[in-house]
Amino acid sequence: MRKVLALLSFAIISVSGVNAQDDVRNIIYMIGDGMGLASVSMMQLENNFETTIFDRADNVALTKTYSADNRVTDSAASGTALSSGVKTNNTYIGVDKDGKSLFSVAELAAMRGMPTGVVVTTYLQHATPAAFYAHCISRHDSATITRQLVESDMDVAVGGGMTLFREVYGDNECVEEALHDVGFDLVQSMAELEAVDGDSRVMALLADKEVGADSGDYLADATNEALRLLEARSNGNGFFLMVEGSLIDGMGHANDAEAMQREMEGFMAAVEVAVMYAEQNPGTLVVVTADHETGGLSIVSNDADFNLSEQGVSYSFATKGHSASMVPVYLYGTGAERINGVMENSELGAKIKSIVDNGSVESL
Ligand SMILES: [Zn+2]
Repeated sequence: MRKVLALLSFAIISVSGVNAQDDVRNIIYMIGDGMGLASVSMMQLENNFETTIFDRADNVALTKTYSADNRVTDSAASGTALSSGVKTNNTYIGVDKDGKSLFSVAELAAMRGMPTGVVVTTYLQHATPAAFYAHCISRHDSATITRQLVESDMDVAVGGGMTLFREVYGDNECVEEALHDVGFDLVQSMAELEAVDGDSRVMALLADKEVGADSGDYLADATNEALRLLEARSNGNGFFLMVEGSLIDGMGHANDAEAMQREMEGFMAAVEVAVMYAEQNPGTLVVVTADHETGGLSIVSNDADFNLSEQGVSYSFATKGHSASMVPVYLYGTGAERINGVMENSELGAKIKSIVDNGSVESL
């Protein structure tokens, strides 16, 4: 009898074990704005080809980034494709090409009772984060986007953008009051953010505009705090977090390879935090990708004669704008093995939404 019971409990553990392994509860969606394959290759080269966090991915994919009205996308259209699973026109945020509102994966998660968050190095009203909570046809309509952030279901938002809040609501006190009215605590420093628990929703406005370039460990620290707060608010039922390495793009626009490396390092440190969280918390899927490539970066040999040994390499930019190259997707943790291949950026967004919908990637 004891043997039968032991066998029976083994069978039950096996069955529930399989389900527990397959179920994705937590999703950490990380977007390097402007991060192309050459940006990743540059970091591998700069690290003397030692293993980077990208090399440790459990699985990879590639996405095509073109928008509904332009073969070269902007961050609004690509952010919308990644957040909502639908390609739209450049400058459009969270709406399809006819201007109809789309459900973002964050909004879907909130509907399912999961706490949600965004963490960025730029201002919170910028195109990429806005695609997860706002709906309007102009990424430049910052007053509408600010109001929609305040009215959103977000539990944790960390980044810059205080000036845009003041433009809508008045002085700091008025901003705090407007946020308080809808259940947000206003936090204005990293120390304050570290001190809050998960009892209230948190709007962390750490800068007037951008948190800024070359901000060191900021993105990793902010990711850590957001994970702590979302976990506390989730009661073990899962959460959704979007993290953006926002300023890789700006350094691509400036054709500044060294500054791009610093932004990549900040983003990679945040990815390390997320991957470590996934390792320690089974049921967590980390998806790392880019919205598009910026600068047309290429890594070229200083001498075209390959009969010679290494003659040095240079970082060369082809444009001050965006390029149409495909961008990489790196996957880590639970469910990582089920997203792969070459796909539209909108398809990746739709897959992540489907995971939130089903709690599992079985149906993909
Ligand atoms: Zn850009």
